[in-house]
Amino acid sequence: MAKKIYLASPHMSDEGYEMEYIKEAFDTNWISPLGKNITEFENEMVAQVGSKAAAALTTGTGAIHLALRSVGVGQGDVVFCPSLTFSATANPIIYQNGTPVFIDSDYETWNMCPKALEKAFIKYPKVKAVIVVHLYGLSADMDKIVGICNKHNVPLIEDAAESLGTYYKGKHTGTFGNYGVFSFNGNKIITTSGGGMLVSDNEEKIAKVRFWATQSRDSARHYQHSELGFNYRMSNVVAGIGRGQLKVLEQRVEKKKYIFDFYKRELGGLEGIRFMPSNEWNEPNYWLSCITVSGDVKPLDIMEALEKENIESRPIWKPLHMQPFFQEYDFIGEGVSEELFENGVCLPSDTKMSDVDLQRICYIIKGLWK
Ligand SMILES: *Cc1c(COP(=O)(O)O)cnc(C)c1O
Repeated sequence: MAKKIYLASPHMSDEGYEMEYIKEAFDTNWISPLGKNITEFENEMVAQVGSKAAAALTTGTGAIHLALRSVGVGQGDVVFCPSLTFSATANPIIYQNGTPVFIDSDYETWNMCPKALEKAFIKYPKVKAVIVVHLYGLSADMDKIVGICNKHNVPLIEDAAESLGTYYKGKHTGTFGNYGVFSFNGNKIITTSGGGMLVSDNEEKIAKVRFWATQSRDSARHYQHSELGFNYRMSNVVAGIGRGQLKVLEQRVEKKKYIFDFYKRELGGLEGIRFMPSNEWNEPNYWLSCITVSGDVKPLDIMEALEKENIESRPIWKPLHMQPFFQEYDFIGEGVSEELFENGVCLPSDTKMSDVDLQRICYIIKGLWK
């Protein structure tokens, strides 16, 4: 069997930074959701993205959940959310008994379409919050999205789970809205095995999120609770992995861009292939290299040809308004996300790939056009 190539797999630093921080946690016996690595990881994320405060949590999904709580989403509240995203963006709306309304993408960004968002505001003027996603490390058109949210005075949460290292006009994604969410799950650009971070410029709100995330314990000797609590705090061991990974984020972005450029050079000339959109204002982290195809070669042909050679790839996210679980909820749009789903492929984007691996992948794909 040929060597397995992954879509995106964990890539620890060559220098072993992660192990040093883990060892420190072991040596000091801080093996809990408390300790220096957590505080320092939060500080380092704040410095990395340029927000004022951060709370380290067990998952990105948990970070979205607590952001929604923080803006007061409750029973029956409408939340706008892109349709073209991972289900983890929308599930926390349901945890809060809210009502998602799905918004279409545009071709310019693949992300939330500002025109569809405007339309949604006309239909649902009482919306409680907006979640925008920066898919595959491409930034949404934040000037327009922020402008619309400000005009209607509605809080904005950025799901930047896939966009650590992505900038919009020089400012880090996740710092435009009231809250930004990052994920360190196994296939993200950096990983802690599992983890999340909620960032904001509102330090008080972040302090409150830390309180909720550690079971909402009031300051009393006995266990006293005046609010619903959650067990969402990141552990000190996991935070150590994060600190080590953050040191190589820039290297990872560089390699991801190299992979994208490689594909573009090798495959760009094939009839009907289009690469995910580039914009002047967008500095993506190129988390995944994605294409759409139109013509005789279908996405499934590409995925199957790669699979035969032990190479992973996958479709673009299936829009949430097409998912059985979310079918009852409204969708505002004109079929862009459906079209991207039907024609899209995420190509292998593992940062451990060599040029030989990349050549092999391109050779297989080009073979389909002959
Ligand atoms: C990965 C991901 C999440 C969830 O993050 P977890 O840390 O896995 O909970 C949310 N939204 C998007 C767009 C993601 O890709």
